[in-house]
Amino acid sequence: MNLTTFQKVESLLQRLQNFLSASVIAKPKNPFLVCVVVAGFLCLSGALFAANWSVRSIGYLVILGFAVVLSVNLALEIPRSGSRVTFADAFVFAAFLVLGGEFAIILASFEALVGCLDLKRRGVYFSKLTIPFNVSSAGIATTGSFLLLVGLNRAGFDLTFSSPEKTLSTFALLAFTQFALLSVLASVFQAQKTGTRFFSVWKQVYLSTSVTQIAGATLTAIVYYLYQFADVVTSVIAVFVFAIIYINYRQMFRDINDSIHQVELAEQEKAEIANQQIQAAQEHAQELEVLLEKEEKISTDLRQSKVDLEHAAFHDNLTDLPNRAYLIERLDLLLRLGVKVSQNYYVLFLDLSRFKNINDSLGHTIGDEVLKVVALRLRRTLRDEDTAARLGGDEFAIVLNDIASLDDARDFANKVYKKLTQPFTIQGHTIFSDLHIGIAPFDSEQIKPEDVLRDADIAMQNAKENNIGVAVFDKDVRSEYLEHIRLEGDLRYACDRGEFSMHYQPLICLRTGDLMGFEALLRWQHPELGFISPARFIPICEDSGAIVPITNWILHQTTAKLAEWQKISSDYRKILVSVNISGKHLADQRLVSDVKEALDKSGLKPSSLKLEITETTAMENAERTIEVLQELKSLGVHISIDDFGTGYSSLSYLHRLPFDTLKIDRSFVINVVDRNKDTEILQTIIALTKNLKKEVIAEGIETTDQLKILIDLGCDYGQGYLFSRPLPVADMETELYKKKDWLPHKEEEGASEPDVSDSPYANLF
Ligand code: C2E
Ligand code: MG
Ligand code: MG
Repeated sequence: MNLTTFQKVESLLQRLQNFLSASVIAKPKNPFLVCVVVAGFLCLSGALFAANWSVRSIGYLVILGFAVVLSVNLALEIPRSGSRVTFADAFVFAAFLVLGGEFAIILASFEALVGCLDLKRRGVYFSKLTIPFNVSSAGIATTGSFLLLVGLNRAGFDLTFSSPEKTLSTFALLAFTQFALLSVLASVFQAQKTGTRFFSVWKQVYLSTSVTQIAGATLTAIVYYLYQFADVVTSVIAVFVFAIIYINYRQMFRDINDSIHQVELAEQEKAEIANQQIQAAQEHAQELEVLLEKEEKISTDLRQSKVDLEHAAFHDNLTDLPNRAYLIERLDLLLRLGVKVSQNYYVLFLDLSRFKNINDSLGHTIGDEVLKVVALRLRRTLRDEDTAARLGGDEFAIVLNDIASLDDARDFANKVYKKLTQPFTIQGHTIFSDLHIGIAPFDSEQIKPEDVLRDADIAMQNAKENNIGVAVFDKDVRSEYLEHIRLEGDLRYACDRGEFSMHYQPLICLRTGDLMGFEALLRWQHPELGFISPARFIPICEDSGAIVPITNWILHQTTAKLAEWQKISSDYRKILVSVNISGKHLADQRLVSDVKEALDKSGLKPSSLKLEITETTAMENAERTIEVLQELKSLGVHISIDDFGTGYSSLSYLHRLPFDTLKIDRSFVINVVDRNKDTEILQTIIALTKNLKKEVIAEGIETTDQLKILIDLGCDYGQGYLFSRPLPVADMETELYKKKDWLPHKEEEGASEPDVSDSPYANLF
């Protein structure tokens, strides 16, 4: 290459630079890359331009080019570095040796291009300018080494291929320069791209590529020596040895590369597994988050439902007023504060009258609406500090707070009464609600909240009995109530403990003076309280329902006893026993079968049994009474209407009632002597009975005067202390065996006139 060639190259470079700076790389993204590409282009252009294109040199270049293409496939991939020893460098050096530097530049660029394309074919990715960069780098490196060689030669160094030693030095210089330039350019490019330091890139990646140049130079040198000095056999042996070395190395490198590849694969797999684990952990964390959210929602819901449950536990479903449990808690608190504090509090017990009728006649839906209206009115009437509660059914209660006196409490109760009794309309029905209110103050005898409520309830019952709106609790009523409760409990066991006994009171035929039978009267000897009057305990038995089993017991006792007594004498064969039947039992379906069972068991004739039903009971549900009495009558038993005159008999029903005897109440007999009016009543009743073709019996006859009047009025039978008090079984039995004359005697009355007539009363009147 001479000076003109350099001048040509220089001017070409100048033009290209001008062109590029004006257009392509006006705003280069990577100036270094662009500069390298431009420089490479200039080097290649210069080489092409300066090369001596004779036929021989073209022929050599084609051979070398072909060799380069082939050698690419013989490349050894250096483990880890990623670079390849292609041996194509050997042909570049060969080009230096045979054709000169220009052709070496062309071949180096060509070799780089072939190498890149081969790698691309194998799947290696190249960015846009990487292939031009590689081609340019190869061109620059070869140009650099060539120029250095030319320069050094000009400077007086003899670096030629004239002798083996010089050839070695020349190749060494070329190889070193090429390596230095190539590795520096590539390292700068790589360092820029990856952001790492130049030197570490050079050391880690490109230092090993020196092998390429060294191997290429060495190979060329060896071939050169063989060509110059060796015979054919030596050359063949040398080629053979090289081939074996090459194949061994190639295999070794492949093995190493495979192992590295496998390690990389394993690493990749590990990384993938780690990635999957991270992903799984992230998914798990997400699931946990969702779960936590759900948990949070559930616990919020639970908290809400707890609040709802607490509300439901202490409030009435229908009216949303506090319920009994709430009221009990409140009263409990007040009681614990002591009477002194609770003196300013009053409890009102409210009971709606006729609510059952509303439910029965208008239906439960309207019934519910009525309760809601009552609750609403209560809420509106109460002050903020008061508490209203629904105790259940049609019962409500109010705790009045901070009320100065009982009178104030009563005024308030009247206000509530007035408000709640105002008529209202529901679904077109006008409702006239009525109620009774009981007021109870706190006192020291109340221990439990239920005691206070009970006292208010007692007061309410009092209001109901007296048919007034508001009543105040009375302590005496409480002791009665408490006794009532006690007796009710004791009565449950009285029969089993043998505390009951029967007394019998004779029924006398007033016409003949004969014993016609007995009224069976129950007696209760309480172990602690002593004798308790039936007038006291029978109503309790009726309330509790105990009257039914007790009456069955009486029926069995009395029918068996009478069957026994009828056998004492032929005079007693027709005597009967009269058993009192309560209204509760009359309403009970089992009455007829109970009576039949007692008769069957005792063997007593049905006609020897009389059942007494009070007038009030009989008229309570007259139609039903008629039905039951008819059934009883069909058994053959007799029926007596007891305490007649105390109830309100409808004459039409009386007419239809299937009874045998009317029993005139004692209250009409007592004053019969002094008060004409009572005599008139007696007369009317007796006449009525006769009219109805029934028999009449007067009870409570205590004096002969009463007896005389009753006989005069035509009364059939009599019962009373005048004849005998009710007697216990044993005493009655003694009298029966003695065949006692039940008629009173004048001496007993204080008179002593001789008996001169046949009349059974001859000695009496
Ligand atoms: P009652 O059925 O009208 O019975 C008559 C009551 O008058 C009896 O009172 C009797 O002892 C009383 N008595 C009879 N003669 C005289 C008299 O001359 N003067 C006075 N002052 N009283 C006389 P007792 O035995 O106290 O019974 C009261 C009520 O208790 C009975 O009235 C009856 O309604 C009820 N009773 C009594 N025993 C039974 C029973 O076994 N079952 C049912 N269900 N009620 C009964
Ligand atoms: Mg009676
Ligand atoms: Mg009676």
